[in-house]
Amino acid sequence: MRIDLHTHSSVSDGTDTVAELLVTARAAGLDVVALTDHDTTAGWSLAEAARPSGLTVVPGMELSCRWFPDDQPPISVHLLAYLFEPTHPGFAAERARLRDERLERGERIVTALAAAGYGISWDRIVERSEGGVVGRPHIARALVDAGAADSVDHAFATLLHHRSPYYVAKADTDVREGIALVRAAGGVPVFAHGLATKRGRVVGDAAIAAMAEAGLLGLEVDHPDHSEEERAHLRGLAADLGLITTGSSDYHGTNKVTPIGACTTDPHQLEALLAAGTGSAPFGD
Ligand SMILES: [Zn+2]
Ligand SMILES: [Zn+2]
Repeated sequence: MRIDLHTHSSVSDGTDTVAELLVTARAAGLDVVALTDHDTTAGWSLAEAARPSGLTVVPGMELSCRWFPDDQPPISVHLLAYLFEPTHPGFAAERARLRDERLERGERIVTALAAAGYGISWDRIVERSEGGVVGRPHIARALVDAGAADSVDHAFATLLHHRSPYYVAKADTDVREGIALVRAAGGVPVFAHGLATKRGRVVGDAAIAAMAEAGLLGLEVDHPDHSEEERAHLRGLAADLGLITTGSSDYHGTNKVTPIGACTTDPHQLEALLAAGTGSAPFGD
């Protein structure tokens, strides 16, 4: 059995449509794939409708959260959530709050840039996003179109980075609250790429133990951004804390080079994850 528990479609920041992603998964020899778009379950019904036979789809989501250390600035952390009830009121309300806040944040950044003389307009950016959630990549493209930056990367490097005067911070969910919401909705919370130092600052062992105490059920161990040492350390922590371990590609289509199925999950670990999830069921034969 080949199992990949972390992928993104064009519903968030991947390049494959949900249907294309499932065909790619089957062609790569996967038996089980989880769809984990950022902060949305919009792809679930598409996956259920488009699923090729022989492939099981685990419905999931990746939630942007924060860990608040006592003595340092907050650290951005990602939480994978599987098999939760998508309409659970508390969890759905928190996702709606995040979506509203992202929109408001985008509008504040654009308004500040427009006031400073960069020729971009919020209404035009919203129109071009076709109903998606407007993020900094959309603003970057508008800056390129307006001639204020040479490329999306250039826009990020000059005007949209987190030390820019036009930057507005995100108010992501406290990770312990995120874990509690996923559990309340019958879902399985798994800490995504928790020790990937190449992605930025990471939390320490005490934070992971605190997350386990708050109801975390698993650690993503085999991830393309983890070194061998980081994987070994996480495997040890999972054994100490009694957590499920997962492996996955974090596939994004052509936005990243990693192929689907690049890292996989052990079937026994999948069994434990499926047994723990009571809010929704996998789509399968
Ligand atoms: Zn992530
Ligand atoms: Zn991801």
